[in-house]
Amino acid sequence: MHCHLDLYPDHAAMVSECDRAHVRTLAVTTTPRAWPRNRDLAASTRHVRAALGLHPQVVAERSGELPLWVSYLDEARYVGEVGLDAGKQFYGSLALQKEIFRDILVACADRGGKILSVHAVRTTPIVLDMLEDYLPAQRGRVVLHWFGGSKADARRAVDLGCYFSINIEMLRKPHQRALVAGLPEHRLLTETDGPFTTVAHRPARPTDIAATVQALAAVRVTGVAATARLIRANLRVLLET
Ligand code: MN
Repeated sequence: MHCHLDLYPDHAAMVSECDRAHVRTLAVTTTPRAWPRNRDLAASTRHVRAALGLHPQVVAERSGELPLWVSYLDEARYVGEVGLDAGKQFYGSLALQKEIFRDILVACADRGGKILSVHAVRTTPIVLDMLEDYLPAQRGRVVLHWFGGSKADARRAVDLGCYFSINIEMLRKPHQRALVAGLPEHRLLTETDGPFTTVAHRPARPTDIAATVQALAAVRVTGVAATARLIRANLRVLLET
């Protein structure tokens, strides 16, 4: 549900790799300028879908690209990467990030039927407030990418209809493993967030998702095949709603 195919050295080769390996991959983008190429490369594939993004970490320099983002919205079923980031480096643009994220949520609610991959660093309660205010569950579905909130935040996110895309880094720390183990199974999805996560000391590729499914199965104390079936069934439900 979340991989930056356009940030690998050979974008087109990564798209073909996902298709050849039958790994369903949502290619998120950080700026709407990346949309046309992502859209075009995904168009002829069975397994790759592109998402229209405006990443909170680039909002300080790229807020002027919001009209471009809006101009592509009707051709995008998936939206991402969008959200808020109050980490040290990006805290300065948080007010602007909130304006942009609000406009994005309002536009998605207006169009209806979008599926969003949402980033929330040190902002989970604010992101949940904004989802509650601007994007009712029946107007769009949200997948929280790399969830870093508390157990209370997680319960609230579940009540708001959110899904969680789980990556391998989230399953390396005991407290996060415990949190993931407590999430309702029908809201679990997976992601690599490549190339920003690592497997065997190199950037993760979409085909490395097998390692995430394996780690997730261990956390849930179920089999790998059953976990893979669960994730596929959850994705089907998400795409049908
Ligand atoms: Mn990302």
